[in-house]
Amino acid sequence: MAIYSEHSISIYNSLSSKKELFKPINEGAIGMYVCGPTVYSNVHLGNLRTFMSFDMIFRYFKHLGYKIRYVRNITDAGHLENDADEGEDRIAKKARLEQIEPMEVVQKYTVDFHNILNTFNFLPPSIEPTATGHIIDQIEIIKGILEKGLAYEVNGSVYFDVLKYNESNDYGVLSGRNIEDLIHNTRTLEGQTDKKNPQDFALWKKAEPNHIMRWPSPWGLGFPGWHLECTAMSTKYLGEKFDIHGGGMDLKFPHHECEIAQAKAWHNCSPVNYWMHANMLTLNGQKMAKSTGNNILPDEILSGNTKQLSKGFSPSVARFFMMQAHYRSILDFSNDALVASEKGFLKLMDALKTLKNLEASTAPSDFNVSKWKQGCYAAMNDDFNTPILIAELFNAVKYINQIKDGTNSIDSESLITIRETMQAFVFDILGLQEVSAVGSHDEKLSETIALLISLRNQARTQKNFALSDQIRDQLVEIGIHLKDGKDGTTFSLD
Ligand code: AMP
Ligand code: ZN
Repeated sequence: MAIYSEHSISIYNSLSSKKELFKPINEGAIGMYVCGPTVYSNVHLGNLRTFMSFDMIFRYFKHLGYKIRYVRNITDAGHLENDADEGEDRIAKKARLEQIEPMEVVQKYTVDFHNILNTFNFLPPSIEPTATGHIIDQIEIIKGILEKGLAYEVNGSVYFDVLKYNESNDYGVLSGRNIEDLIHNTRTLEGQTDKKNPQDFALWKKAEPNHIMRWPSPWGLGFPGWHLECTAMSTKYLGEKFDIHGGGMDLKFPHHECEIAQAKAWHNCSPVNYWMHANMLTLNGQKMAKSTGNNILPDEILSGNTKQLSKGFSPSVARFFMMQAHYRSILDFSNDALVASEKGFLKLMDALKTLKNLEASTAPSDFNVSKWKQGCYAAMNDDFNTPILIAELFNAVKYINQIKDGTNSIDSESLITIRETMQAFVFDILGLQEVSAVGSHDEKLSETIALLISLRNQARTQKNFALSDQIRDQLVEIGIHLKDGKDGTTFSLD
């Protein structure tokens, strides 16, 4: 049932740097584009956080009954090493290092990306287009921008003329940079002499003879610049002007700034009404990044096989951890934070189990369920404030436990409301998944391993190292790894 008309949502728009009332272009329908991964290596937890923020937003809009078309692309060409116009193509470089074809790299990491998203309970986007599937569209846009006189061709490459564009437009409108500062701060790098000005960016790059990912164009064999694909795919599937464009904070400049410039140069229209940027996941206070190696992979969080973690955590615990922070706040990853999230998550799940078995009564209650429900929506309507929503969910947890203990009560109508609302927010919107019931296989396995750990400890105390080693080694053979830490022994599964 569509309930969007009962809710007014405010969204922080990076373009105006303030919260604005959300009004879609077409009533009841939303077009949302989110920059997807460059598939040249495994996604790390930082990437996952950004995609998860938009998964939650997608889920909420769906819950409200909007007809939403969510486009998230796959970058499989054109993204050079340093995000600008120099360096090797990331995918081509990986292919060279691994001695496989670029498209094998793309296939491998696209499959990995989808597997990870499945594990972490993501909803698939409505359309997942690839850059290489839209080369012709990109060439057409370049032709259009050339016709407007806002790009120029040099030696088989085409560059966007930022200074010319800025004469009648505002380059830097999204990132708050002004052109004078940009000119002042950009170095001219060697080998970049093709550009008229260093702040110009490539729409099309001539391919060197050894560059395998190249396509014919009016300017010779080459490949599109990274920023162009998103303009091509968002316009194709969502139109010249659409509602929401999202991505991580680090994409604001130059990527999104260039998208705005391309679209305005091409069809004189600012492409997006609401620009949304998700903040970074950090590790030891530094941004998680592929390039620096300062990152944790989603698989590592599940297995616990990394020095930062004392044990593995379920995908829902990781999701809960991410949702406990607002999408625009920096979030620092740590073992302690995950342990705390796991505790909170299990408490929430316990209360949901209790809720299933509660019985209504006519005794008076001091908890107003319909007001509480409004509070849940109010949190989400205020720029998708999941930490406030979770605080509301814990108000309900407290109430549920009071009813169980007999210190509070609930009438039958409120019981239906609280059950439906918890189901909607916990599972449909936050995307958490129920942990297995008590006595499940998972729990029995954990208890069995705990028993073996305790027998191993006894053997060690008795200096029977042959037995303690045997227990550890035989567990390894079946894919169970024990890890001795200062707080005792934990385990992870292959
Ligand atoms: P990439 O594959 O590098 O283009 O990144 C995919 C998405 O992940 C982009 O939206 C980035 O902004 C985002 N991203 C990269 N690093 C982080 C991080 N440490 N925390 C949150 N999002 C990130
Ligand atoms: Zn993009």
